[in-house]
Amino acid sequence: MSTSRHPRSWVTSANDHPDFALQNLPFGVFSRLGKGMGTDRRGGVAIGDCIFDLRAALEASLFTGVARVAAQAASRGQLNDFFALGPASRQALRNELMHLLDENSPQREHLQGLGKTLLLPMSECRMHLPATIGDYTDFYVGIHHAMNVGRLFRPDNPLLPNYKYVPIAYHGRASTLCVSGTPVKRPNGQTLAPGAEVPTVGPSKRLDYELEVGVWMGQGNEVGEPISIAEAGEHIAGFCLLNDWSARDLQAWEYQPLGPFLSKSFATSLSPWVVTAEALAPFRSAQPQRPEGDPKPLDYLFDEQDQKHGALDIELEVLLLTAQMKAQGMAPHRLALSNTLNMYWTVAQMVTHHSVNGCLLQPGDLFGTGTLSGPQPGQFGSLLEMTEGGKQAVELPSGETRTFLEAGDEVILKARCHRDGEVSIGFGEVRGVVVD
Ligand code: MN
Repeated sequence: MSTSRHPRSWVTSANDHPDFALQNLPFGVFSRLGKGMGTDRRGGVAIGDCIFDLRAALEASLFTGVARVAAQAASRGQLNDFFALGPASRQALRNELMHLLDENSPQREHLQGLGKTLLLPMSECRMHLPATIGDYTDFYVGIHHAMNVGRLFRPDNPLLPNYKYVPIAYHGRASTLCVSGTPVKRPNGQTLAPGAEVPTVGPSKRLDYELEVGVWMGQGNEVGEPISIAEAGEHIAGFCLLNDWSARDLQAWEYQPLGPFLSKSFATSLSPWVVTAEALAPFRSAQPQRPEGDPKPLDYLFDEQDQKHGALDIELEVLLLTAQMKAQGMAPHRLALSNTLNMYWTVAQMVTHHSVNGCLLQPGDLFGTGTLSGPQPGQFGSLLEMTEGGKQAVELPSGETRTFLEAGDEVILKARCHRDGEVSIGFGEVRGVVVD
């Protein structure tokens, strides 16, 4: 694989970096670590092991025109205003950033001279949620997850009849979305023990994770105005990783007839970097063919271009690090490897369906894709699937076993994009430790 035709950066840690090469340039919100620094949040761009400080770059007058306006919006303590500007402004800023950070940039010496005022080591910074999230919606577009879970409850009829017509979703809770690194407290709630006739209240005994991709909304719509499938892509600001922590015992008791409630709303973890559509463009793919006999999407969800290029080819990984493994110096253990090609609906179809009734979508709203499992063992994005509903324990290299999560367990999600002839990029990670 040759990537020699691709530009490299004078920020040398970016070259061959697993996540943040010059070709990625994701946006995020950070503050400097240290006394009194934690409250000074501002926007930055990940490049190698560093954060390019947009506020410092503006103070050094590094941007022009549309890119300057975009950099002003992206330099604030939340990216909502930047998301609202839409793709042309975002692309203008990305283009200027790529030129500034290129190893052949005419401004290289000037920028290097600015040192740590412009480029901060990530290890000296703390990441925050990238936007103020008004609404959060969790979809269910991972068809293998839907099949695997449906089979546990309805072996002969795993998918309900609406699944292949409707991108299924529920309204999630925005208030408990949290950034990577935030501990996750085991939730209390009602559960009905097997064979019991009345429920009890107490800590969940079946705490699980869900491997998902998050979709950040850019420009919104007007109330009552649907977003067409052809225009949906322009309303997406970027992508992140999302762990939809789930209390399976609460969920089993509460979910009928209106869907998940307290089993999901206690915590949802996000990776801090917003990977743009532009960075993901080389990793677009045709939407996988629907199996023989499946219905064609209804017209409002069907677009030739979306079918040809609307899917994403992103490798997704789940790792687990128990407290014992950590104490013994062991590496996190891979539980699953999956891919966004396991989505039955494209992100454009999610946006269009969400707005077809006129629902207002706003900059900084967040969608989860739903758990993105593959069809095979080793590709399952939740413990519910891996353990067949808690029946088959997972064995770990430490000799421990798990059916569901225990105190001290750290769940780590990662994502990477590879394609021949392209520079690989990644999403960074989202991690969270379970505390009782
Ligand atoms: Mn979910």
